[in-house]
Amino acid sequence: MSKKISIFWFRRDLRLEDNIGLYHALQSDYPVLPIFIFDKDILENLPKDDARVSFIFNQLESMRNTLQEAVESSLALYHGIPQEIFKSLLEDYEVQAVYTNHDYEPYATERDTKIQDYLKDNNVEFHSYKDQVIFEKGDVLKDDGDPYVVYTPYKTKWKSIFDSKKDLKTYNTKKYFKNFIAHSRLPNLSLSDMGFETSKIKVPNYTASAKVIQNYEDTRNYPAIENGTSHLGPHLRFGTVSIREITKRAISEKNEVFWSELIWREFFMQILWHFPNTTKNAFRAKYDRIEWRNNEAEFEKWKNGETGYALVDAGMRELNTTGYMHNRVRMLVASFLCKHLLIDWRWGEAYFAEKLLDFDLSANVGNWQWAAGSGVDAAPYFRIFNPMTQIDKFDKQKEYINKWVTDLQELTYPDKMVDHKMARERCLKTYKEALS
Ligand code: FAD
Repeated sequence: MSKKISIFWFRRDLRLEDNIGLYHALQSDYPVLPIFIFDKDILENLPKDDARVSFIFNQLESMRNTLQEAVESSLALYHGIPQEIFKSLLEDYEVQAVYTNHDYEPYATERDTKIQDYLKDNNVEFHSYKDQVIFEKGDVLKDDGDPYVVYTPYKTKWKSIFDSKKDLKTYNTKKYFKNFIAHSRLPNLSLSDMGFETSKIKVPNYTASAKVIQNYEDTRNYPAIENGTSHLGPHLRFGTVSIREITKRAISEKNEVFWSELIWREFFMQILWHFPNTTKNAFRAKYDRIEWRNNEAEFEKWKNGETGYALVDAGMRELNTTGYMHNRVRMLVASFLCKHLLIDWRWGEAYFAEKLLDFDLSANVGNWQWAAGSGVDAAPYFRIFNPMTQIDKFDKQKEYINKWVTDLQELTYPDKMVDHKMARERCLKTYKEALS
């Protein structure tokens, strides 16, 4: 048995600075072993060139280098089932405590409960912190203690309890880097050790510059504008940037609209926390009575961007090529799938989960249910986007369309797979029957 240590377990917080759980671990009385576990059960279901796995891997590598240079330390990488990895860590070290940050998804909370129990049985403390959001779980509740299910009053309450001094405190971890364990050949891995390869798709850097935030309202609705939005999605998802830092920027640039988007993220996170069954069931139960057509051949056309509706196709092709799709177009393709094709939102949600670099269960489910009309704060079901007039509104010069649908003028470009008027009426009839 070697010397006493604390462990810091990285998950959705892949950064060394302003990381609350890490800050607390480094303040403990023992040297800190930082670890990351590539969860076998999760990796098993991903394609071998998954871009998110490459992104995580590269970020860990860069953190390893930083620690090596700063304090001749490193970060231990494991590939396995978390509980088994902890078992072997307890055999190799005298572990006093494990530190980490909260992860709110149902799979993660179940995993953490099991690990916490296992550690407790072995007299090891488990400390977990709020880090990836400003407000979590039951932090923002109605006066009667119920969770909010409508965004605007949620946001009002969020802002009323927000205290920038307290909630945006920076956690300076650098000061304590010397408390990391000395690097004595900590376990390393390569992507190929796990059966993965480097993806051709790269996660772009985010662009939360003053200019992008200041112009956000003017640019955010137009998919052809290059940095019209921040591209923060994957960075907030994997914690390569701190939400406190980004919120500070939103406030200092005085951009309420941008800030509101960050609050939407927390709104959907608390919805998932309070209503975990919404990953499978409609939030408004009667929407599960809808008789989806679920035509598989039509689903394939939608996935491949071959619907014959240029803006829908541009979006799907952007997604398939880059792992990103502009929010305006996400709203349209989601509406098209659920309403024009009457395909279950769960099918679309699963496809986005597979493809999006910024896939986040709470935002994905929340926004898909919004598009289907079945979710919290969803638009009335009879508001159906017209895929033609959406072009006039958001891509009038067809710059975005021409970028992604290069065959638009060619004979091979498919005819519209469904007539808009017919699809609209069919949708209204189907929804009406289910909901009445
Ligand atoms: P910006 O416009 O720059 O916004 C900044 C940040 O605010 C985003 O990175 C995100 O963290 C947050 N945000 C913005 N809009 C929303 C929103 N509607 N809901 C929740 N958070 C928001 N977002 C995800 O992060 N993961 C998903 O899996 C996801 N799936 C979606 C599915 C559908 C059908 C739709 C309509 C939207 C989805 N969104 C999702 C929301 C939104 O489209 C993306 O957050 C946004 O496009 C990401 O680009 P950005 O970082 O440049 O955003």
